[in-house]
Amino acid sequence: MIVLKSDREIRLMRQAGRLVAQAHEVVREMLRPGITTAEIDRRVEAFIRAHDAIPSFKGYRGFPASTCISVNEELVHGIPGPRRLEAGDIVSVDIGVIYRGYHGDSAWTYAVGTVSPEVRRLLETTERALMAGIEQARVGKRLGDIGYAIQRVVESAGYAVIRDYVGHGIGREMHEPPQVPNFGEPGKGIRLRPGMTLAIEPMVSAGDWRTKVLSDNWTVVTADGSLTAHFEHTVAVTEDGPYILTLP
Ligand code: MG
Ligand code: MG
Repeated sequence: MIVLKSDREIRLMRQAGRLVAQAHEVVREMLRPGITTAEIDRRVEAFIRAHDAIPSFKGYRGFPASTCISVNEELVHGIPGPRRLEAGDIVSVDIGVIYRGYHGDSAWTYAVGTVSPEVRRLLETTERALMAGIEQARVGKRLGDIGYAIQRVVESAGYAVIRDYVGHGIGREMHEPPQVPNFGEPGKGIRLRPGMTLAIEPMVSAGDWRTKVLSDNWTVVTADGSLTAHFEHTVAVTEDGPYILTLP
């Protein structure tokens, strides 16, 4: 069942979302070649806890860290550790918090140092796909409109949409119905209503869309080793249009 949120609940989710966005600013400030992904995770966790919030990923189905940090061909669910980022890497950082009982969830793929124009294009395309999806998160539109808009941006740039992982409803739980695929047909799927809160999160491969999970049982990579990007915002559907909750 899809839980519609009241204005009061959306305001609380906005507070959670703002913290997520500020945690991403912490990441941006510290990101440089030579830093380990564990250092990023530690700093983000400290930031979240200092603001009376809880990192929602920590312990989720046994996940050992506060952030998911996925490098290059790693798509999602990477475990922070001793790996040092190198100039030219791209790193996807996914952050979730619980604040006063409500979740915020946002991911961003960052360039470490200077990356090639082709890699830059992958990041820009995926971010553009996210914004195209958000633009469809309007009362009266349907879920398929979001997926279709994302898929069109991605595929017209020559990239592939990941099929095995999708966006989701969000609120008191990190994952609520409905699933929000990054592909679809316009005019299909459930109708969007005021008070729906969705994590819209295009995941894109520069090559093939097929994925596999590494032996740590968490890290998802592209099966063909292609670079990947992942951009995510938590968004409320309102009478006034899409309201991005995970902005600073
Ligand atoms: Mg996320
Ligand atoms: Mg999510």
